Amino acid sequence: MPSISRLAHLSIYALLILIGALLAAGIAVRQAERHALVDDAARAGGQLMLYGNTLHTLIERYRALPAVLALDPQLRSALSGPVSLSTQDALNFKLEKINSAAQSSTLELLDRSGLAVGASNWRLPSSYVGHNYGFRPYFLQTKAEGVGRFYAVGVTSGIPGYFLSNAVTNDAGDFLGAIVVKLEFPDLEREWGQGDDLLLLSDAKGIVFIANQPGWRYRELLPISAADRAELAATRQYDKQPLSPLKSQTIREFSKTSHLSRIEGPQGAADYLWESLPLAAEGWTLHLLRKPQALAEDTRNAALAGAGTWLTLVFLGLFLYQRWRLARVHRRSREELEQLVQERTRDLRTAQDGLVQSAKLAALGQMSAALAHEINQPLTTQRMQLASLRLLLDHGRIDDAYRALGPLDQQLTRMAALTGHLKTFARKSPSGLRERLDLAAVVDQALLLLDPRLRHEKVSCVLHLIRPAFVRGDAIRLEQVLINLLRNALDAMRDAPLKRLEVSLEPEPNSPPLWRLSVGDTGGGIAQEHMTNIFDPFFTTKPVGDGLGLGLAVSYAIVHESGGTLTAENYSDGARFSLVLPAEPEV
Ligand code: ADP
Repeated sequence: MPSISRLAHLSIYALLILIGALLAAGIAVRQAERHALVDDAARAGGQLMLYGNTLHTLIERYRALPAVLALDPQLRSALSGPVSLSTQDALNFKLEKINSAAQSSTLELLDRSGLAVGASNWRLPSSYVGHNYGFRPYFLQTKAEGVGRFYAVGVTSGIPGYFLSNAVTNDAGDFLGAIVVKLEFPDLEREWGQGDDLLLLSDAKGIVFIANQPGWRYRELLPISAADRAELAATRQYDKQPLSPLKSQTIREFSKTSHLSRIEGPQGAADYLWESLPLAAEGWTLHLLRKPQALAEDTRNAALAGAGTWLTLVFLGLFLYQRWRLARVHRRSREELEQLVQERTRDLRTAQDGLVQSAKLAALGQMSAALAHEINQPLTTQRMQLASLRLLLDHGRIDDAYRALGPLDQQLTRMAALTGHLKTFARKSPSGLRERLDLAAVVDQALLLLDPRLRHEKVSCVLHLIRPAFVRGDAIRLEQVLINLLRNALDAMRDAPLKRLEVSLEPEPNSPPLWRLSVGDTGGGIAQEHMTNIFDPFFTTKPVGDGLGLGLAVSYAIVHESGGTLTAENYSDGARFSLVLPAEPEV
C-alpha cells in the first residue's frame, strides 16, 4: 500500500519539523530569558549606584557637623570642669536648636568618660542625658583617633542610627569629650520602600541593618565568627535585636557583585537578581534584590522568532533540495535526449547505407541484361575459336594453334576483370570509408561496366582525363555516382539524333586544389521547371520501371559525404553534371 506508507512518511516529516520548531522556540526563549536577565542585572546595577550615591551624599552632609561643633567654645568650656545643672540646661537648649537647624536626628555631648552631659532630645523620655556611652565603639574610636563613626541601635531609644563623632579638646589638645551626631534614616527607608526593589544595607560583618521591607533587617548575610559575636555583645551594636541568618544559594553569577540567587526570605524562598555595591568609606555594602521578570510578551515573541527561523531554514532546505532534484532531472533528460539523438543518427546512417546499396543493386539489375550479353557474346566467339583450335591441332598445325590461343587468353582475362569488378562493385562498402584513390581509375571502371551499352547504342565517347587525379573517398561509392551520371546521360540520349558523351577530369584553378569531373551529353538537357527537383529522392521523369528517382539523390549524398559538391547545368543541346572534390597531394 504505497499511499499509506507515503502518508506515514509525511506524518513523520511533519512531526520532525514540529519537534524542531518546538526545540527552536525553547532555545530562543531560554536565550531571550538569559538576555533579559543580564539586561535586568545591568539595569539593577545602575539603579543601585544611584541609591548608593544618595546615601553617600546624605552621610557626607553631616560628616562636617561634629567637627565644626567640637570647636564651639561653649561646648569646650562646659567639658573643662564638672557640669552644673544650669550648664546642662544651656547645653541641652543649644544642642536642640542646632539639631533642628541641621535636621539631624540627635546631637549629644559626652564627657571624657562617655557620660552624656547634654543632648538635643533632653525633653523626651528616651533622653540620652545622664547615660554613659563609654562602651560604644564610636566613643572609644574618638578618644583614640579624634573621630569615630558607628552604626548601632540606640541602647536608650531603641532606634537604630549612624553615630558620627568628633573629639572635643582643650587648647593643649587634651581629650575632653566627644560631640556626637546621630543620623536615622527613616526618610531614606521610606523613600526606598516605594519601589518594587528590595534594598538592604549591611555592615562589614555582613549584618543587614537597614532594609526597605519588613523582615529583612538584622539578617546575617555571612556566617558570623565567635570573635565577631563577642564584639557585637560588647558594643551592643544591635543591642537586643535578635540576628538570624539569611539563607541563599547562588544560581548564576554574572560578576563578583551581580548574581542570580535563590533566597529564603521572610515570605518564603524565591529567585532574586542580587546586586551589591560596597561603600568603602563606611565599610558597608548596599544590596539591591529584584525578582527577575521576563515579560510574557517578550518570551512569546522570542518563541515565535525561534520557531519562525527554524521553519524558514526547513523550507529553504526543501527549496534547495527541490531545485537540486529538478536540475538532476533536467541533466538526466538531456543526457537521455542526447543518447536518443545518437541512436537515431546511427539508425539514419544505417538506413542511408541501406538505401545507397539498394540503389546500386537496382542500377546493377537494370544493367544486368547488357552485362549478360557482354559476357555471353565472347563465350560464343570463344566456342568457335576452340573449334577452329581443335581443327588446327588435328592437322598438326601446332604453331597456328599457339597463335590462336592469344586472343582467347585476352578475352578470358577481360571477362575475368569484368566479373571480378562486378563482384567488387556489388559488395556493400562500409560507410565512412576515406581511402586515397585515383578518380581517373574510377572513371575507367565505370566506363568498363557501361561499355556494352555505349557500343550497343552507338554513342560516341569523348574522354579528356588528366591522370592521376588523387582524391580521398570511397572508390565503390564514387563509381556508383559516376555510373548514375553516365546512365542518366545515356537515357537522355536514347532517342537523340546525335549521341555524344563527354567526360572530362581536370584540376580546378583553386586553393586548396580541387578536381572537377564532368559528364556532358547531347540529350536535350533538363527542363527548367525540373532543375530544382532533380536531386530530390523519388523525382523522376522516366516511365514506371525505368527510373526510381533515387540515382541523383543518392549520388548527391555520397558526394557530400566525401566533402565534395555535385551540380547540374544545361549547355548547348544537353545537360552537364559536375562533381568537384578536394585534391589529395601527389606522393
Ligand atoms: P531516375 O534516373 O531514376 O529518374 P535520377 O535521380 O537519376 O532518377 O534522375 C532524376 C531525373 O533527373 C530524371 O528522371 C531526369 O528527368 C533528370 N535527369 C537526370 N539526368 C539527366 C540528363 N543527363 N539529361 C536530362 N535529364 C536528366
